[in-house]
Amino acid sequence: MSSSRRIAWMIGSWLFFLLIYSAVSLSLKRGSEPLNTFGNLVQCVLPLLANAGLLLNAGTPKWRQNLFWMLLAVSCTLWMIGQFQWTYYEIYLHKPVPDLNGGDILFFLRGIPMLAALALRPHLRRGEIQLRFGYLDFVLLFVWWTYLYAFVVLPWLYASPAVEQYNYNYNLLANLQNMIILAAWGALWLGSRGAWRVVYANLFGASAAYLLSSLTINVAIASRRYYTGSLYDIPLVSSFLWFAFAGAIAYQYRDRLDAPSESNSDSTVDERVWPAGFAMAAVISLPIFAIYTIRFGHETPEVRDFRLMATLIASVPLALLIFLRTHLADKDRTWLLARSEQSVENLKRLQAQIVQSEKLVSLGQLAAGAAHEINNPLAAILGFSDLLAEDPTVPEKARAMAAKIRDQARRTNTLVGNLLSFARQVPPERTLLDINTVVNNAVQLRALDLRTGTSRVELQLESVLPGVRGDGNQLMQVFFNIVSNALEAMEAATGGVLTIKTIRDRGNVVILFSDTGPGLTDPYRVFDPFYTTKPVGKGTGLGLSICFGIVQEHGGRILCYNRQEGGAVFRVELPAVLAAFPAKELHLARASTAPQKTS
Ligand code: ADP
Repeated sequence: MSSSRRIAWMIGSWLFFLLIYSAVSLSLKRGSEPLNTFGNLVQCVLPLLANAGLLLNAGTPKWRQNLFWMLLAVSCTLWMIGQFQWTYYEIYLHKPVPDLNGGDILFFLRGIPMLAALALRPHLRRGEIQLRFGYLDFVLLFVWWTYLYAFVVLPWLYASPAVEQYNYNYNLLANLQNMIILAAWGALWLGSRGAWRVVYANLFGASAAYLLSSLTINVAIASRRYYTGSLYDIPLVSSFLWFAFAGAIAYQYRDRLDAPSESNSDSTVDERVWPAGFAMAAVISLPIFAIYTIRFGHETPEVRDFRLMATLIASVPLALLIFLRTHLADKDRTWLLARSEQSVENLKRLQAQIVQSEKLVSLGQLAAGAAHEINNPLAAILGFSDLLAEDPTVPEKARAMAAKIRDQARRTNTLVGNLLSFARQVPPERTLLDINTVVNNAVQLRALDLRTGTSRVELQLESVLPGVRGDGNQLMQVFFNIVSNALEAMEAATGGVLTIKTIRDRGNVVILFSDTGPGLTDPYRVFDPFYTTKPVGKGTGLGLSICFGIVQEHGGRILCYNRQEGGAVFRVELPAVLAAFPAKELHLARASTAPQKTS
């Protein structure tokens, strides 16, 4: 069914419902038991219907929208609880509801969640404010309006019971609240665009119907013409049906509501300023009410005492709430300050990183140029030494020496190849790799670092490992980084041993780097970009986060932890290509299980 047909159907059912209601209302006798029961039951069920429509929209991923619809539903629910007690009196006790009824407060309190919902203004695209402030402001709103009710209405119920005054004050306050709500819906309606405008217009309509119903019922009660189930209830019935309709319309338009049409850059400022202003006004209003009571009130002493007591009592939670709000705001400010300091620090690191990478680029270019130059004479050395080593006419001793020269030339060739790939002179490509070879290359490259140290690297490589599909240069970078970090950490202490182990673990090839250094200060943050314990200019905190990305791109995992006996362990898991065992390249240093000293 198309959306406009569905809406036409809903309007049709709404009108049909009103028609049936009017027919029953007119056909049954005024004040009769069936009409009474019918009127009460309809009014108990209607808020449920409204809730169903409203809550259709409360399951979005956006908390602000969800909260908006939930608050509207809470408002209807409060009204429904108020209605339950009417039903209880009229149907169960067969008595009219007393004129002075403490339960009337529920009909008044229903306005508060609605005001809170209005304050959320879900159509605006905003940075999600912290929810705790939202909760606090809601409690503040609740306390203040309840206080207002206690000040204006309750004295005539509890201090000096007087029906007329009670009704007058109740209606005054309730209507004032309804008008504020209506004006706020109107402002939202006029101030929004697109789908939200339609939704707000409907909510405005529903609230207008509610205000109208409240005025109609007041007039009817005053002229003693009201009875439950009468036609005077039609605006009320319409109001709840309209809330349900507004919810259903919003559900129809949910895709358009989810993409808010407006972005309001002032709103964050607005957002912080106006609840704070309201909180201040609420607190300042208390002494003003007290002064009014003492100086200008002409009521009886009981009413005066009641009002003063209400003011005093209300001042306690309000002051506490304000205190809590300030406290939270202070905490937030401190947190923001720490965050911005951290950002500045990160910026400095980034700057250092840029300088560093520029240096590396030129260094890489230099190394690549040199490597290319070395490659040509090296190829000649390799070729001639090979010829000599294989030439049977050459004496045995000379051949042995030629073979040694050839081996060393091959080793140099590998190093030059590694240097070239590290300087990114080799395009990235996915091939079937022997991880032992990649580990070996990384370790050899690291061994080129001429700084002497007291740390060693021990290789314990599994002799038969399945292949891994990936980019050899990228993975070499990962291993190089981990090895460098470990060696640096150990050098910073008194040296130690880094053991690199490769194993096969189910469908994975696992590479374990365990060092005997001081261990990780904060293992949970090691992969965070910019996390470093090294001074600015030395560490950038980017190495391991890049490694993390590379391993993830390879479908693997990298994790780290501290060993109980001390030192850090990095574990890299890469998915194995189980059927394939790549041939080891012969010219590489033997991937042995024997310890190898590198630095
Ligand atoms: P950087 O080396 O620039 O600081 P990395 O991302 O490579 O950035 O490392 C982040 C941090 O992780 C290091 O500053 C260090 O504190 C910690 N770390 C990494 N490896 C080790 C290790 N083997 N032992 C102790 N700390 C380590």
